[in-house]
Amino acid sequence: MDQRLAGRVAVITGGASGIGAATAEKFIAQGASVVLGDIQDDLGNAFVAKLGEKARFQHCDVTKEEHVEALINTAVKEFGRIDVMFNNAGIVGAIGPMESTPAAEWQLTLDILLNGVFYGMKHASGHMKKQGSGSIISMSSVAGVTGGLGPHAYCAAKHAVVGLTRNLAAEVGPFGVRANCIAPYSMATPMVADAYLGDHTDIDQTMKMLADESPLKGRAGTAEDVANAALWLASDESGYTSGMTLTIDAGITTGSVAGAPRFAEYQPIMREAGKAGL
Ligand code: NAP
Repeated sequence: MDQRLAGRVAVITGGASGIGAATAEKFIAQGASVVLGDIQDDLGNAFVAKLGEKARFQHCDVTKEEHVEALINTAVKEFGRIDVMFNNAGIVGAIGPMESTPAAEWQLTLDILLNGVFYGMKHASGHMKKQGSGSIISMSSVAGVTGGLGPHAYCAAKHAVVGLTRNLAAEVGPFGVRANCIAPYSMATPMVADAYLGDHTDIDQTMKMLADESPLKGRAGTAEDVANAALWLASDESGYTSGMTLTIDAGITTGSVAGAPRFAEYQPIMREAGKAGL
């Protein structure tokens, strides 16, 4: 099978860890060159050494517009173009009840999860509009499409990413550029291991915990599940898809999970109804 991203150039923020790193591996395997940005410099440099000559790492703090712009410029300078922008970097951020949420933590969370995405969209879309093609993928969350599944600042930022994605899709569509976002449920990554277990290295235990409580029997979500979605959105296979929020959540946001026990109760009632010819 042909490589799905042959000759394409992708930029990924938060590319040294978790979903960003899994996506970088997948994109390279499918023929792309990648430029990764992250604040974890040692990890990022070691990772691109492993990925080989089609990968670059550059320090990039997404709260700083000039860092994000420079990352995108590196892709254009080193590889001649930018076909895919994955605005992925993130943290859990401010946690706890609204009444005790410190304003500074609220601000930092929005700086990373929302402003960082805006900078990526802004600088990638300029290049892509001139090119007449491109795919901008941004990271939302199930907390971006429903309430009660994440802390307040996280929820607000991830909802805003959905809105920005829709608006950007309307702006860039006439130039041949697409914009979509991804909304995962809890996946076994360092961020979630840290949030649930206080140890970002314990991916095995996180996998086990997520599998035990999964809406899909015994199946935990992984960074690779999200990377597969990013690959589809980056490739021509999603060429008619724009403005979409793609949930990767084992059905948790559909209501089907909460409703499952009730279906079991319905069955006898429906059998009785069937006997009565209804
Ligand atoms: P991860 O393994 O922690 O990877 C995120 C990377 O981004 C880390 O290397 C992190 O560094 C880095 N980062 C943090 N702040 C940054 C900044 N200001 N500038 C640049 N890089 C920064 O987490 P992940 O689970 O892969 O998460 C990736 C994205 O998916 C996030 O936006 C997250 O909200 C979203 N998401 C994840 C899940 C999930 O269950 N894993 C679900 C829904 C959405 P540090 O480790 O030093 O912070």
